Amino acid sequence: MIIIGSGPAGLTAAIYASRDGLRTLVVAGAMWGGQLMLTTEVDNFPGFKEGILGPDLMDNMWKQAERFDAEMIFDDATAVDFSSKPFKASVGSKLYEGKSVIIATGASAKWLGLESEKRLRGRGVSVCATCDGAFFKSKKVVVVGGGDTAIDDALALSKFATEVKVIHRRDKLRASKILQERAFKEPKIEFVWNSTVQEILGRDKVEGVRLRKVDSGEESELTCDAVFLGIGHKPNTEIFKGQVQLDKAGYVIAKDTTKTSVEGVFVAGDVQDYWYRQAVVAAGAGCKAAMDAKRYLERG
Ligand code: NDP
Repeated sequence: MIIIGSGPAGLTAAIYASRDGLRTLVVAGAMWGGQLMLTTEVDNFPGFKEGILGPDLMDNMWKQAERFDAEMIFDDATAVDFSSKPFKASVGSKLYEGKSVIIATGASAKWLGLESEKRLRGRGVSVCATCDGAFFKSKKVVVVGGGDTAIDDALALSKFATEVKVIHRRDKLRASKILQERAFKEPKIEFVWNSTVQEILGRDKVEGVRLRKVDSGEESELTCDAVFLGIGHKPNTEIFKGQVQLDKAGYVIAKDTTKTSVEGVFVAGDVQDYWYRQAVVAAGAGCKAAMDAKRYLERG
C-alpha cells in the first residue's frame, strides 16, 4: 500500500492499513505533516481536552503509525503512473510499486505573499477561522476575501469578535447570495471595498493592517488583533493530472466516498474535500480509504 501525503488523512490511513497488516509506505513529502504543521494550538480535535499543538498532534499520529511498522519517506512524490498494475510512484529517481494507492496530498491555503504574513503566521495571522476564531474572543479581526470561505469565516468570527472587517479587492462579493445576505444583516460585520492588504502590522503579534484603495492608491491603517485569510485553496494534485479524474478546480473526484476513477486508487482529505477542511474529517476519510483499500486488496 502506498499512501501519498502525511496530514491527518494520510497518517490515519497509515495507522489503519499498517495495523491491518498491510505493508505500508507513506510518501510523506519534504514538508511532512500537512497544514497542521503550520498551526499552533488545535482546540477542537477530539480527545485532547486541553488542546494540543498542531505539530505535536501530527507527531503523535506518525508515531502511532510507526508502532505498526508503517514506513515513511520524507520526500515529495514527483510522479505517479496508475495506467497499469502494480501502481507506481516516483520519488526523484526512486520508483515504488503498490497494489493500492491512497492519495492524501491535501490542499494548500493561498497566501497574499507578504513577508509580514509569514512572520506573524500563528501569531494572529490564520487561514482557518474554524480552527483559530475562538482565540479572538472580544477582539477586533479582519477577514480578507470575498468568496464563500471569507464570508463564512466572517459570520463564524462574529460570534467571538467585537468587530469583523471584511477587506475585499472589488465592490462585489463572489460568495453565495444566502451567505451575503446573512453577512449584510450581521451588525458586527463591516465591509471595506476595493481595498487590498499591503502589509500586516505588528512585531510579535498582529496589531493592524495597512490597506490600499485599488482605484486611488490611497493608503490607510486599521487596528486589529487578527487577520484571517479567506482567499481560496489550491489542491495539491499537480502529479495526478491525467492519472485520475479531477474537477475544474483540480480536486480529485471521489465516488462512493473514497474511490477515484482508477480502481484500486483511493482518496482522502482536503485533496478531495473543499467543503469541511477539518483535521478530524480528514482523519475519518483516511480511515475510510484504508478500509476500502483493504477490501479491494482482499478481493484480489
Ligand atoms: P474562491 O476562489 O471562491 O474566493 C476567493 C476570494 O478571495 C475571492 O473573492 C477573490 O477575489 C479573493 N482573492 C483571491 N486571491 C486574492 C488575493 N491575492 N488578494 C485579495 N483577494 C483575493 O475561494 P473560497 O475558498 O471562498 O471557495 C472555494 C470553494 O469552496 C467554492 O466553490 C465555495 O463555494 C466553496 N465553499 C463554500 C462554503 C459555504 O457555502 N459555506 C464555505 C467555504 C467554501 P475576487 O472575487 O475578486 O476574485
